[in-house]
Amino acid sequence: MDKKLIGVDLGGTTIKFAILTENGDIQQKWSVETNILDEGSHIVPDIVASINHHLDLYKMDKDQFIGIGMGTPGTVDVEKGTVVGAYNLNWKTLQNVKAEIEAGTGIKFAVDNDANSAALGESWKGAGDNAKEVVFVTLGTGVGGGVVTDGKLVHGMGAGGEIGHINVHPGGFECTCGNKGCLETYASATGVVRVARAMAEEFAGKSHLKEAVDNGEEVTSKLVFDLAKDGDKLADMVVDRVCYYLGLAAANLGSTLNSIHCYRGGVSAAGRFLLDRVDKYFQEFAFPTVRTSTTLKLAELGNDAGVIGAASLALQFK
Ligand SMILES: [Zn+2]
Repeated sequence: MDKKLIGVDLGGTTIKFAILTENGDIQQKWSVETNILDEGSHIVPDIVASINHHLDLYKMDKDQFIGIGMGTPGTVDVEKGTVVGAYNLNWKTLQNVKAEIEAGTGIKFAVDNDANSAALGESWKGAGDNAKEVVFVTLGTGVGGGVVTDGKLVHGMGAGGEIGHINVHPGGFECTCGNKGCLETYASATGVVRVARAMAEEFAGKSHLKEAVDNGEEVTSKLVFDLAKDGDKLADMVVDRVCYYLGLAAANLGSTLNSIHCYRGGVSAAGRFLLDRVDKYFQEFAFPTVRTSTTLKLAELGNDAGVIGAASLALQFK
């Protein structure tokens, strides 16, 4: 009989679950609200109860499963299966997630941070198309990253794949990490707006973006990209600056890893418009032989990316 996987996508507002075939096709999915009260102490028991309840409901047995994989916010020790510092879950102290979920379900369990599990999912079923060499970049409220090489996630000595903190402009904008000039400070959704505000100050010509900034209107990364597409001069310069930094980071990652690069998240909703510009700078900065064999793509997994990526973590138990 075909064995199944369970994917758990743990977020600050909902916990998404899916039962998948070992080829990554979703057969069942459901979700529950995340109860972050009492320092997040209900979260793991809720996950155990929800999995056990649904296995009963579908008349399935724990022996039918290869394992459970989970993507989570916070800092993860993948060996020990612990999570710490997931502030949107109220997990300030160390959580023994693996031990508790294995004891509660009787199924093997693997955990990694959400950006890493998304990277693995994308290399398995998305734009990587079962590719073994993938760099995954999430352009959201921050810039997250995951590096897959030889089909496995790179953890380094614990914090590998932190693409958002690649320095692209020494002495540049201050980052939440304490350094100056991290990619995240330019290419996250808030970063794009920050670039727009800084460039608007020095821009003298006619621009809707400049008017919006000067009038104190709400400025979002989406507005910047929309105006740039419409030919707004300042917005175009802002997008060009952001793409320059993304292209610089991509070129340096490319020269190191020579992988497929996948982009996901709010800022990447700008689509080919963004990607073509990033590619222009990538071509300019990358090592010649890397230039021709590294591709930049938009991520392809949709809403189910989280559970698919999480489930792929459990493939290690096959
Ligand atoms: Zn940083």
